[in-house]
Order: sequence, then structure tokens, then C-alpha cells
Amino acid sequence: MNKIMVNKIYDTIIIGSGPAGLTAAIYTSRARLSTLVIGGIQSGGQLMITTEVENYPGFAEGIMGPQLMLDMKKQAQRMSAEILDRDVESIEDGEIKKVHVGDTIYEAKTIIIATGASSLWLNLDSEKKLMGHGVSGCATCDGAFFRDKVVAVIGGGDSAMEEASFLTRFASKVYVIHRRDQFRASKIMQERVMNNSKIEIIFNNKVLEILGDDTVKGIKIQDVNNNSEKEIVLDGVFVAIGHKPNTDFVKNIMSIDEKGYAVTLSGSDILTEKKGIFVAGDVYDHRYRQAITAAGSGCKAAIEVEKYLQNE
Ligand code: NAP
Repeated sequence: MNKIMVNKIYDTIIIGSGPAGLTAAIYTSRARLSTLVIGGIQSGGQLMITTEVENYPGFAEGIMGPQLMLDMKKQAQRMSAEILDRDVESIEDGEIKKVHVGDTIYEAKTIIIATGASSLWLNLDSEKKLMGHGVSGCATCDGAFFRDKVVAVIGGGDSAMEEASFLTRFASKVYVIHRRDQFRASKIMQERVMNNSKIEIIFNNKVLEILGDDTVKGIKIQDVNNNSEKEIVLDGVFVAIGHKPNTDFVKNIMSIDEKGYAVTLSGSDILTEKKGIFVAGDVYDHRYRQAITAAGSGCKAAIEVEKYLQNE
């Protein structure tokens, strides 16, 4: 296929449009660097499928995740960043970097990779089969389909707690099924779940199978201590077991660790081994993974881009 080369070399191309990417775009475009954000078909990142964000400073009453992302996008555009809602297929490194998007190639002097992370799944055949037919990874998107029904949330982190609490708005009962005897989630999120009379917690159990032919009819779980199995009748399963960094498209040009996180230079959380290629947000950060830390690293990446371009 003959590709179309766009007749412009951007100062920076930012790949990803979550808090990291858009904060970087606000900073680079405000610094008068020509900036293209290639934000993905599902732009906005993980906050687009979350409910209320209570811990992002500046919003005393909290803010809905999608609204926060919409506002960040508008802010970046007001600073003159161009935003393209497409997925990047690959990058070619070089003094001028080439970013392949479908049949088009965009060029830039620097790149910020801020592609975040995507949901992990249990990897059960029955989960694949019933995906969209009672199996979901997003309570905000699908919760309303389960009015007066029984659902289960799998996982023990903040996402699982958040999904379970949210689902009680619709479901008559919500099971939280976790493989260990304690949650990983923050205390406040745990407390909300534990104090909600619609939620029943089942610790020390893993999901063996999701039952049902065309729609979810139940789950089979196994006690990890004594291997006993049990079936629970229910209508929906929400998998909230964490995320995988979106780095497949850069594997050929830079180092990725065994869990898929982009590797940064030692002593830096932004610089990579590739000159002019920077990372920001959940794509490298396996420790903090918060909207505010992602935004902070987007700011740092933008400042690194400015410094790099000055030195070059
Ligand atoms: P997470 O913190 O990595 O938790 C994943 C949970 O899923 C863990 O409890 C883990 O069990 C379990 N799990 C992983 N693989 C599993 C498998 N194959 N089978 C069964 N269970 C499995 O992921 P997260 O909850 O998505 O949160 C990610 C980050 O986002 C965190 O930093 C979190 O604080 C943040 N977050 C914040 C908010 C908020 O503040 N509003 C909301 C959502 C997320 P183990 O505990 O046994 O490892």
C-alpha cells in the first residue's frame, strides 16, 4: 500500500489521550510547540469508563471521569493542539520519527508515548463466549442493563470496589469475588463495599467458569484453600482484575519489560533509551497508576520535549 506522507513535521506527536497525553499536549502547545495528539479510536483513556473521580485536586465536589477528560481535551485544543481520534499502528525511529496511522504517515521531531493500559481478562473460554452477553469490563457502560438482576464483580483492587459500589445502583445483589483473603483496594473504597448491604464478598475463591449458553446464567467458583467448587446463579459478570500497558505497537523500537511496561532510563521516569522518545502515564508506571500521577508525568514529558528541542 502506498502511504500518504503528511507535509508537516510536528515538534511533537503525543500518542494517547488520557490525562498523561492531554496534559503533555496542554504544556507543549502552550509552549508554542506544534503538537499533534493521536488519541486512539476510544479516546480519553480509562477515565472515560469510570464514574465519579473524587481524588483529582481542584474539584471539591468530585467530577465525572468522562467530563474531566472532555475538559482536558478542550483545554489542549484551546492551546492549539491538534487532536486525531485514530489508533497508531507503528513508529519508525530516526532523527525525524514517523508515526503510521492507517494509510497515513505523520512526522515529528519527538514523540511522547502515553497510551496507558487496557483491561485484563480472566482468559476463560466461557468469558470470551459470553463477552457482551452478560460479561463486561465496564460497569459504567453496561451496569444499567442489570436493573434488579444479580451480578458478580471479580477482583480486589480499587476498580473492583468502584464497579461493585456503582452496580448496586441497578442490581438487586452484587457479589465481589476475590482470589485472596484481603483486598488490595484503598481502605475508603473497601469500606464502601463492606458497608453496602447489597454486596456480598466472597474471599479466597477463583472463577473456574462462567455458565450459560447465550447469556450468563451463573458462575462456577473454587475455594483456593480446600478446592471445593460451587455454582452461583446470576445474570452478569464484571471483570475488574487490572490492566495491561498498551505497548505492543512500540515493541520493535524500544525496551518493554516482562509485564509489558515501557522501560525508562534508570533514574528517570520519562526518558527512554531512544533519543527524542518519551513516555508518560500508565504505559510505564506500574506503581502509582492514578489520573493525577499520569497528568504529572505528562507535564514532565512535555518539559523534557522542550529541553530536548532546545538542545537539538
Ligand atoms: P489492581 O490494583 O492491579 O487490582 C487488580 C485486582 O485483581 C487485584 O486484587 C488482583 O488480585 C486481582 N486479579 C489480578 N489478576 C487476577 C486474575 N487472573 N484472577 C483473579 N483476580 C485477579 O487494578 P485496578 O483495581 O484496576 O486498579 C489499578 C490502579 O488504578 C490502582 O492504582 C488503583 O488505585 C487505581 N484506581 C483508582 C480508582 C479511584 O481511586 N477512584 C479507581 C480505580 C482504579 P491480588 O490482589 O491477589 O493481586
